[in-house]
Amino acid sequence: MENDILIVGAGICGLATALALHRKGLKSIVLERSNALRSDGGALSMYNNGWHVLDQLGIATELRENAVRLES
Ligand SMILES: Cc1cc2nc3c(=O)[nH]c(=O)nc-3n(C[C@H](O)[C@H](O)[C@H](O)COP(=O)(O)OP(=O)(O)OC[C@H]3O[C@@H](n4cnc5c(N)ncnc54)[C@H](O)[C@@H]3O)c2cc1C
Repeated sequence: MENDILIVGAGICGLATALALHRKGLKSIVLERSNALRSDGGALSMYNNGWHVLDQLGIATELRENAVRLES
């Protein structure tokens, strides 16, 4: 497989970028220096712009099913 795009880091930004490129038909490879997933953190805080991006990536519907909306 030929990869034209190299993404360094498999955090949320690296993986979202890889998914966005994939949706556009562009191949990429993600390099991660850690050999384990980080599992600390209590929740993922997401503002409206973030939901807009998740909608574009096609993964917001499933996430909304378990999301809690904060009104203030
Ligand atoms: C302890 C902790 C708890 C947190 N809890 C929350 C929370 O509950 N809710 C929330 O919304 N946010 C939380 N955050 C913030 C959130 O983790 C960050 O905003 C988010 O992870 C940033 O994503 P990122 O992809 O930019 O970077 P990162 O998640 O840091 O990912 C970068 C990745 O790149 C890799 N990398 C770096 N350099 C190289 C290299 N040279 N070669 C290969 N790989 C490399 C790293 O190993 C890492 O996996 C927390 C942060 C920390 C530190």
